[in-house]
Amino acid sequence: MTLELRKNPSLAEMTTLRLGGTAEVEVVVREEHDLDELAEFLVHETLRPFVIGCGSNLLAPDTHLDMALLRMAAVSGPDRVEKRGDKMIVRANAAQRLPGLLGWAQKAGFSGMENLTGIPGSVGGAVAMNAGSYGTEFGELLTRVRLWSPMQGLEWVDASECSFGYRSFSCGSRSGKTIVWEVELALDESSPKAVRKAMQATYKKKQSTQPVTAKSAGCVFKNPESKSAGMLLDSAGLKGVRIGGMAFSDIHANFLVNLGGGTSDEAMELLQLGRDKVKEQFGVTLETEVIVL
Ligand SMILES: Cc1cc2nc3c(=O)[nH]c(=O)nc-3n(C[C@H](O)[C@H](O)[C@H](O)COP(=O)(O)OP(=O)(O)OC[C@H]3O[C@@H](n4cnc5c(N)ncnc54)[C@H](O)[C@@H]3O)c2cc1C
Repeated sequence: MTLELRKNPSLAEMTTLRLGGTAEVEVVVREEHDLDELAEFLVHETLRPFVIGCGSNLLAPDTHLDMALLRMAAVSGPDRVEKRGDKMIVRANAAQRLPGLLGWAQKAGFSGMENLTGIPGSVGGAVAMNAGSYGTEFGELLTRVRLWSPMQGLEWVDASECSFGYRSFSCGSRSGKTIVWEVELALDESSPKAVRKAMQATYKKKQSTQPVTAKSAGCVFKNPESKSAGMLLDSAGLKGVRIGGMAFSDIHANFLVNLGGGTSDEAMELLQLGRDKVKEQFGVTLETEVIVL
């Protein structure tokens, strides 16, 4: 058995909000051939499987979860595949950290992802969430995605067959058990200097408007149509509001931050308060962007 199983992993250690109790087991998949064992594991296991990336968009309860956290941990790449027209095709593993991919692309002088600077997480998570900022979404850069499911195994799927929505990704009739294993994306050739300059500009913009170094999960609510959830929360007086160790950031009201010693119950209480106040004052129903386990 080459699958690595870790009993009672701490969700507080696996999420950027630093909240949560434990899960039953963490299953670490390092090699492609481990996926066969994963299929076996899933057939025999009654625990609820959940694919976890870097936990930068997750809110875990303080209790113990009867869950198997499936973590992809392959360590190859990123690699240049080929030049296609005026695009450079690049391959990256799902386990690759998104900031690491951006750093690699910067050094190689490949442009296209600069607006995503400052988004933590893994490539797999960026696909699943269709992570985006300042008008660029990860999904729009992809040419194909290599997906795995226990029934279908590993297969490359053309990006045109997938649908990328606002913080969502789906691919045909594939179920929630689908795992992103690898991706290919098309980038423009530029220069390391120009890419670095654009990345620095993005980071500077984020630094002045977001609590980039706080323990958070990024924006907790999705922007309702043509409105900013942050502005609605701010107008409803939620900026800086604190319950115990959790607060809506005083820099950006849509960031829930753990000030230290916060709990998931406090986080949930704040989310409810935000939802209620915005509904009451503006008649708008906020939907969570953060995934509540
Ligand atoms: C400071 C900060 C700033 C942020 N800014 C932004 C931003 O500007 N824009 C933005 O979109 N997001 C932002 N986020 C949220 C978060 O970083 C993204 O959603 C990120 O893409 C999540 O990646 P992850 O690996 O951490 O996924 P996780 O949080 O671990 O999981 C998120 C979802 O992805 C799924 N998933 C993860 N890996 C895989 C895989 N290999 N296969 C299938 N499904 C998978 C999980 O099952 C889950 O449904 C921010 C977060 C923080 C903390």
